[in-house]
Amino acid sequence: SQVASAEYVKSSVRTADCPSDGLPEFALVGRSNVGKSSLLNSLVRRKNLALTSKKPGKTQLINHFRINDSWYLVDLPGYGYASAPKDSRLIWEEFTKDYFLKRETLVSVFLLIDASIPAKQIDLEYASWLGRNRVPMTLIFTKCDKRKKKKNGGRRPEENIEIFLSLIGKFFETTPPWIMTSSLTNMGRDEILLHMSQLRNY
Ligand code: GDP
Repeated sequence: SQVASAEYVKSSVRTADCPSDGLPEFALVGRSNVGKSSLLNSLVRRKNLALTSKKPGKTQLINHFRINDSWYLVDLPGYGYASAPKDSRLIWEEFTKDYFLKRETLVSVFLLIDASIPAKQIDLEYASWLGRNRVPMTLIFTKCDKRKKKKNGGRRPEENIEIFLSLIGKFFETTPPWIMTSSLTNMGRDEILLHMSQLRNY
């Protein structure tokens, strides 16, 4: 389940423009600053694979990276930018929701949640939307290397995770799979890749 090759394929405006070769894919999504590009780069062991999607103009697109010539990692736009104008937020919602509901080769959404801070309302809303719409989801808790800080609510990552899982419990029949990660220590990296390979083989 290791990554031997990773290449940027394309950025799409709409679900209909995404690659049509039928390869299975996993989409990474999360609040801006959650550590999505760091995780993407740690997964493929590159310093800047995700840079493409950080360029101005590419942040509102569905970015496809082909792994080992056999599956895709998909970088979706971050949500929750404080500065985003209301209109662009609505457009974002429309096109990512369309992607979640219509993309047939989507195996699982990997929703990134910052475990170093208390649960945010927008993350709970996002998880509950995916749950209610029965979009297959894996929770990826990021920044699990961070120690508790008073200004962050004074809780350890494990405690923030436990609270988050209990808050979303009512939206799911069973707790979604979840993985603790750190891009600094590579905690969780192999677990994510193994989980993805297991999901592809179902
Ligand atoms: P993105 O906006 O979701 O793509 O987030 P980035 O990957 O750019 O990371 C946002 C900030 O969080 C940066 O300052 C990173 O250095 C930091 N960060 C990302 N991942 C981790 C992590 O696993 N641990 C710690 N301590 N910081 C992280």
